[in-house]
Formats: sequence, C-alpha cells, structure tokens
Amino acid sequence: MSDAVVHVALLHSAGAGHLTPCLRLAALLVNRHCRVTLISPHPTVSMAESNLLSRFHSAFPQVSLLPFHLLPLDASTANSDDPFFLGFEAIRRSSHLLPSLLASVSPPISVFLCDVSLISPVLPITETLRIPFYILFPSCARMFSLFSSVPRFISSISELDFVDIPGVSAIPRSSIPPPLLHPDNVFANILKEDSPKLPKTRGILMNSFEAIETNALESLNTGKVVKDMPPVFPIGPIMPCEFEKNETQQTNSSIVKWLNDQSPGSVVYVSFGSRVGMSSEQIREIGNGLLKTRFKFLWVVKGKKVDKDEEDDLEEVLGAELMKRLKSKGLVVKEWVDQSEILSYSSVGGFVSHCGWNSVLEAAWHAVPILGWPQMGDHKVNAEAMELSGMGMWKREWGWAGEKVVKGEEIGDAIDEMMKNEGFKMKAEELKLAARKAVGGGGSTELAIQKVINEWKKMNH
Ligand code: UDP
Repeated sequence: MSDAVVHVALLHSAGAGHLTPCLRLAALLVNRHCRVTLISPHPTVSMAESNLLSRFHSAFPQVSLLPFHLLPLDASTANSDDPFFLGFEAIRRSSHLLPSLLASVSPPISVFLCDVSLISPVLPITETLRIPFYILFPSCARMFSLFSSVPRFISSISELDFVDIPGVSAIPRSSIPPPLLHPDNVFANILKEDSPKLPKTRGILMNSFEAIETNALESLNTGKVVKDMPPVFPIGPIMPCEFEKNETQQTNSSIVKWLNDQSPGSVVYVSFGSRVGMSSEQIREIGNGLLKTRFKFLWVVKGKKVDKDEEDDLEEVLGAELMKRLKSKGLVVKEWVDQSEILSYSSVGGFVSHCGWNSVLEAAWHAVPILGWPQMGDHKVNAEAMELSGMGMWKREWGWAGEKVVKGEEIGDAIDEMMKNEGFKMKAEELKLAARKAVGGGGSTELAIQKVINEWKKMNH
C-alpha cells in the first residue's frame, strides 16, 4: 500500500487545551501525507473551541470532518461543577454512537488516535473493529507519570504526603490535582478507570520534548515508571499553525501594534488560559500587582470559566479608577487573544501563567520565562516540570484557585523577581534553541514523528 493510505481518525475532547494540540497534530499529519478524519464532538463547551474548529476547517478542507452529536448530559448524575469535566463525561457517555458513525468512513481507518480523557469507552470499540489505538496526551510527561501510576497509589491516597514515582522526582500531595483527592469526582473516576487500560493502547503521542523533560521521558520509555507501558513518542512541541490566527480580530492587531512600540523584554504578559475564571477580588489584586511592578503589561482578564458566560465589561470588574490607572501603564483586554503570536514579540520579557501545558510549551518555543500561578487540575505538576526545566519559578504558597486571595504587593514582587532573573532568560533561550532543533531535520521530535508514522505504515500492509 502507498504511504498516503495511512488514514488516522482523530477524536478530540472538550476544552481549547485539548482541542488545540489535536488540531495542530492533524495539520502536522496532513503535511506528512497522512489522510485525517477529525471526529468532532458537538456541541463544544466554549466559543473559543468552535471558532478554532471553523478556522481549522477553512484552512484544511482535505481533513474529513465527522460531527459527533453528543447526547445531552444530566449534570446531576455526574459529580462535578466544572463544565469541561462535564464535557469529557458527555463524550464518554455518547461513545456507544461511535461505531455507526465510523461505519460511514471510507477508506477504512488505519489508526485511531484519541484524547487521553476518553480511553475506557473508546478502547473496546477499536478492539472490536481491530483498529490500532493510540493516545494523544496534551499535558507533560511528569503528569503522565502520575496518571499511569494511579493504580499503584490510589488506594492509599488519603495517607500519602507525596507520590513517589520511580525515575521521576516525588510529587507532593499539595500538587496532586485536587479532584483526585475526592474519589467520587468525575475527573477522579476517569483517571481511575482509564489508567489501568494504558497498557492496552499501542502508544502515547506526548506533547513534550527531550530537552524540557529529559528524566521523565527517559523513565517512561525505559519502564521505570510502569513496567508494561506502551512506547511514549515525544512529538512536542506540537507548534502553532497559521489557521489559529484570526486576521479579522481587531483586538489582536491593536495588541501587536502596541507590543511593537515597547522596548525588548519590557512587557509582562498575564493570562490564565482558556478555562480559568478568577474572582473579582483576585482580579482587582492582580491589577494592583501590575501597577506595583516596574514593568509594562499585557493582561488578559477572565472572570468566567466558559467564554459564553462572560457578561460583565472590564470596567465593571475592575472599577473605573483602577481601570484608568492600568490603562496608563499597560494593555488590559477581556477576550480571546492569539497567545502564540503575542509570545513571539521580543518586547514580551515574561509570562504570568497558570501553567497549562500548551502555554508552557508556547513560552519555551519563544524563550519567554514564566512566573507560574497554578490554579487547578494538572497545573501544579506542570509548574513543577516548568521549574525543573529552569525557565521560571512558581509560588507554592499561593495555593490553588480560591484557597486565598493573593495580594497585589506579593504579585508585583514576584513579577519583578521573575522578570529580573537572568538565569531564567538564559535557560528559556536554551530551550527555545533545543525545541527548534528537536522539530528540525534529524531532531528528536521529528524522529519520534517519523517513527510512529512508519509504525502505522507497517501496520497498514
Ligand atoms: N489561548 C489563546 N488565547 C487565549 C487563551 C488561550 O490562544 O486568550 C490558547 C493558548 O495559546 C493555548 C491554549 O489556548 O494554546 C490553552 O491551553 P493551555 O494548556 O495553556 O491551558 P488551558 O486553557 O487548557 O487551561
């Protein structure tokens, strides 16, 4: 069979942090002559996801789109108030609809590649259809080590001060994603149900690269973490694509114009990703912190987890007086921005980030040091991986979202500390070069991608 016949079905999950790497991977596979069918759960949780999907489809008409209409989820039967975790659950509970959907696909699917949040319901379907099953893991190798170790530690979790993972430095209890400590939560149930199934998958495509997570990746692939683990392919950083740019968006062009006018390294970019909504009190303290730092800033404010729910305007959240003072020193916006483009500007000298893993990788790609402020889920584990890489720091005492209100004074001091640290800058530059080398010809990422595609080609014969 010819190379072009490798036909990859990609099933994404809820949230921009899961969708974005999946679409970037789809683009990468198309550019390497794979046929791609994107199975797209509908409706999406946020507008950011539906906007991204429509831009992707305009840019890649050759990718077949298979809309996967979800059954309505009765939220009272799922123990979580997080709309994105409920999104995972809605897809899982609709998965019995997949076989009839897949029956319509032609030519036949060679490989099924599925977001990590959907393993248990999809694995048996691919087994029945005899389609090799691979996972896309959008977080870091350190988080994957924790996830794959769940069966080993979950029964004693109430007594553990830290999770000891062979070959990976210990993960303290305070960094474990909080839902895992509440065993009936939807997210905890997904991890507990899916982790033991990992050895039944054919491989894990991991959005990470050797230079940023040397130990964790090596430990996973030498069986130190879990003995019978399938191969982990470090195919990251799966980098931003042209389709993500929203040329018509007014906000981005005014941001870009402003960034162009600032001197190198003088601006701190503040954003907590696509699904962290902060309390008004905390938002105002961030404002105070930004007034205190000696640096200019570009701040993306977000008050609600889901963008569809954002109704207050900026002045309502910040108050007229604070807003006026902020405007004289930096830029404050309250809508989706093109983050990867922003990070590429030399005026951006640091990033206050929740440490969503896509954000960490995008910062590494552009050599931007990070002040981590983890909020929920995998953020602290990612912040640990980021700090271990040397490109930044995070304040453990700030806790999880909602545990306390961090005062502006502390925030301003921490920003100054991160922005002035020459060691972070040097390390971030090294990582940028290493990332670019990894994705170039003969680099570790490129080799991992070729290896997995060759594996698929052989299976196709
Ligand atoms: N993002 C963006 N503009 C925004 C907010 C987020 O482009 O205003 C992108 C960001 O560049 C990243 C993704 O959305 O690619 C967020 O993923 P991440 O893993 O960093 O965090 P999450 O949003 O999943 O918590």
